[in-house]
Formats: sequence, structure tokens, C-alpha cells
Amino acid sequence: MTISELRLQVASCKKCSIHSNGKPVLGDGAGKLLVIGEALGGDEIKLQKPFVGKAGQLLMEVFESAGLNRGVDYFITNIVKCRPVSTSQYGNPINRTPTPQEIQACLPYLDQTVDILKPEFILCVGAIASKVIISSTFSITSQRGEVVTSKRYKVPSMAVLHPAYILRQHEDFDRLKLQLKVDVFNVLNNMPKVEVQD
Ligand code: SF4
Repeated sequence: MTISELRLQVASCKKCSIHSNGKPVLGDGAGKLLVIGEALGGDEIKLQKPFVGKAGQLLMEVFESAGLNRGVDYFITNIVKCRPVSTSQYGNPINRTPTPQEIQACLPYLDQTVDILKPEFILCVGAIASKVIISSTFSITSQRGEVVTSKRYKVPSMAVLHPAYILRQHEDFDRLKLQLKVDVFNVLNNMPKVEVQD
């Protein structure tokens, strides 16, 4: 199977009820660095592209400062290819953490993505992706930035704080953004085969 064929398969998936929140999205990009987040948010489902909302823009800014260009230097995807939604106290749809059932239902698509792309390094964005990909006992607060081996895929991996979390830490925003930059630069140091485009 090719990544294009998998993309089509994901787009028509109806395994979970959250497919009704918008068409599922596999992800985009190329290269041997695989970036994995949690799930789509409202902006992502609207634009049919992962990491395009405020949190995604922060991550893209940090990637670009490290010379990592979207579409060229990494493939970016999520554990869950749909938007998990709950209702706020005012009756508006709000993003929620995916359930274990949604994660399990969607994981075969990530397994297929890894089979097709054969990444040499995986960057897990946030706690959910880290626990699923690296290890169920992984602690993002104490182990982020460390190069470890993914239990699921047996590939060198690292976890960074989710940019959505960083955006919420108003008092500590500058420090955490700098920490994210340092971690992303370390990905490049630990993955010499990443050929960054000028
Ligand atoms: S979350 Fe994954 S498995 Fe569930 S409907 Fe969406 S694409 Fe399909």
C-alpha cells in the first residue's frame, strides 16, 4: 500500500462515532522523521490538515527555526485521525482527549504509516502520543527531551511538550517555548540522516 492509498482509506473511515465531526485526516509530508500528535482540533478538521491551529502554528514556527520545512523534512500525523469533541458548559463543541477505544481503533493506521514510511526517528508531541508510542509508563514531565526507543515501533524517539499546553502556561511561556526549540534541535543532532532543505 502507498501513503496515498492509506490516505484515501482513512478519509472514508467510520469505525468510531467521532467520524461525524468531520472527515478524518491522515497527515502530510515526507522524509524519515515522523512527527506524531494526539488528534485533530477544530481548525485542523476545517482545513483538513494536522497542526494548523494556534498550537500547530507554534510548533511550525519552532520547526522552521530549526530548518525543518513542512512537506519536505518530516511527515506529520496524529494518533487519532478525527476530532474528539465534547460540549462546553455554554453548549459549544470543544476538543477533548481521545478515549482509549478511539486510540485503539485508529492505531492500525499509524502502524501502516510506519510500515510504509519506515521512519528513522519519531518525535512524539504531547503526553498521549508519548505513552502510546514510547511506553505506557513514559512521563512527559521528567523524560521529555530524552532519546529513547519506542516500544511499539523500535525506533529512536523523543517526546516534547504539546504546544497547546505551552500556550496555556502564560507565566512560563517563553521558557517552555525555548525548551521546545532546544528539544527540536536535539532531534536533528540525534538524527544525522535528516537532510534539511535550505
Ligand atoms: S478515529 Fe480513526 S478509527 Fe476512528 S473513525 Fe476516525 S479515522 Fe476511523
